[in-house]
Amino acid sequence: MLERMKSFKKIDAHSHIGYFGGWSDVGITPEELIEQMDEYNVEKAVISTYPIKESIDAVDKYPDRFVGAAWVNPNEKEAVDQLRDAVKNHGFKAVKLHPLSHSYLPNDECVFPIAELAGELDIPLMIHTGHPPFSLPWSVAQLADIYPDLPMVMIHMGHGNGMYVQSAIDMAKKYPNLYLETSGMPMHTKIKEAYEKVGSDRIMWGLDAPFHHPTVEMQRTIVSGLTDKQLEDVFYNNVKKLLKL
Ligand SMILES: [Zn+2]
Repeated sequence: MLERMKSFKKIDAHSHIGYFGGWSDVGITPEELIEQMDEYNVEKAVISTYPIKESIDAVDKYPDRFVGAAWVNPNEKEAVDQLRDAVKNHGFKAVKLHPLSHSYLPNDECVFPIAELAGELDIPLMIHTGHPPFSLPWSVAQLADIYPDLPMVMIHMGHGNGMYVQSAIDMAKKYPNLYLETSGMPMHTKIKEAYEKVGSDRIMWGLDAPFHHPTVEMQRTIVSGLTDKQLEDVFYNNVKKLLKL
């Protein structure tokens, strides 16, 4: 199984570097993440940090391995400038939003200037999902309804709760601009279901380093029931296409 996991070329659609204290007490340096990527055949990782500076430094230092997702807090007035700077001056390819940690709803009007700038810059939003009250799939769907031309990735596709996972799939079926990312989502069967019912190009694999181990996240995808060709879409092709890598 380990060799099979390693055999797939991968791009990690969602990870972090740095130390996360508090309840999680996990951390990884850029160099440690790259070492892990080499071990498990991960070509690039989309990384985000808050504050954004740490990810800018890592992307500047390792532009062939890291792809930046600009993690901004829409409640802060510098968010728009930070996003523009990260994209224009450091080649960032997405916006990362974490409505739960920064206490706003995905469809709150504080998000609108960020969404509009993302549209102008032609980059997708990547939004944490899975926890009430601020990061439920239905609220992301309301934002998707307001900006139908802006692609939005529901990171964790509902996360640990089966009902939220189902709602992420249901909302993505309803809104063609919604995409799903698999990290931390426990049900292998839902990866196949999403691939078949939402769309073959709308689900992508992510690790969410340093919170999860690559073998755990890869295994769930490999046993999902998808063919090798379909797994290549989930592990590599879909994020590459969406982020234009
Ligand atoms: Zn994360």
